[in-house]
Amino acid sequence: DVANSNSAIKFDSDSDAAAGAVKYQRMNATFVTLARNKELFELVKSIREVEDRFNRKYNYDWVFLNDEEFTQEFKDLTSAIVSGKTKYGLIPKEHWSYPDHIDLQKAEETRKNMKLAKIIYGDSESYRHMCRFESGFFFRHKLLEDYEWYWRVEPDIKIYCDLDYDLFKFMADNNKVYGFTISIHEFQKTIPTLWQTTKDFIKQNPQFLAANNFMDFISDDGGDTYNLCHFWSNFEIANLNFWRSEAYTKYFEHLDKTGGFFYERWGDAPIHSIAASLFLPKDKIHYFEDVGYRHQVYGQCPLNPEFRYKHRCHCKPADDFTFRGYSCGKKYFEKMGLTKPKEWEDYQ
Ligand code: GDP
Ligand code: MN
Repeated sequence: DVANSNSAIKFDSDSDAAAGAVKYQRMNATFVTLARNKELFELVKSIREVEDRFNRKYNYDWVFLNDEEFTQEFKDLTSAIVSGKTKYGLIPKEHWSYPDHIDLQKAEETRKNMKLAKIIYGDSESYRHMCRFESGFFFRHKLLEDYEWYWRVEPDIKIYCDLDYDLFKFMADNNKVYGFTISIHEFQKTIPTLWQTTKDFIKQNPQFLAANNFMDFISDDGGDTYNLCHFWSNFEIANLNFWRSEAYTKYFEHLDKTGGFFYERWGDAPIHSIAASLFLPKDKIHYFEDVGYRHQVYGQCPLNPEFRYKHRCHCKPADDFTFRGYSCGKKYFEKMGLTKPKEWEDYQ
């Protein structure tokens, strides 16, 4: 009954519609996944884990986006697994194609050279459209227009621990804007001019640089050079209004004009991270230490055994990437003024 409901949140799924259940007020939030039809079976594994560990209790919506039409099979299977409403959107051509000012020959030259240099995805055209879309357009898609918060999910991710609270509500209640799990160094060769381009932007628009920003995390010399640290964007829980802000809109336009998405191979992860670190006060960035997570080769696993048992985590602490050399986790804890878990020294 209502008098006892403060100890356990009641949810408005069909089974809880029984008399007395208090309707849970969801946030204005959705999951969002960009994917290709051929990734369906890798993707449903991700969705299954997100549902089991979190969303079966909350039933948030899930928006799927694609530069091609989704197949009926894709829609049927994902709809069968997602507990909330599912929505399927086609990306408009102008969000997934070359802007007029791009010299296609120069872009092709770049891809050839990057292939020879064995730069990951260096020869891929679609990867560049993907990175540009995730940098500048996903939050403008019609299906996302009415939402305030999103949680990005990719094929081939794992969620290792029970999530017993509403992560969207946590973000809102704690005045957070950008949330992440893993931080890592970028390959310098994919972004040779990104930092100079960013510095030019800040010089022309100093008003967008936040007081108490997180420059210390992304630069070791007060902003002169970029140290390549970024939040890994395959997991993000963030406020869409940040990407819709004047600062970010103008920043993206400035970046896009230089052609760096095509003449180099700029990723959405360093771009999102640089923007969050410069345009937000650092206390609006949140590290989800408690979200056991993996994508492909890197993961995080809470190191504290009691925490893992209580949240029924199924990850191996020795696989935790947070304090390894190539990670930026150690720097994050230090620059954010956080205390590292007491086990960290055994997992460097
Ligand atoms: P990585 O994580 O950097 O290795 O890149 P991914 O291949 O995982 O791509 C990032 C995200 O974009 C994933 O959710 C992919 O499913 C999606 N994606 C990548 N390329 C394409 C594409 O050409 N079309 C569509 N629709 N989605 C793509
Ligand atoms: Mn991926």
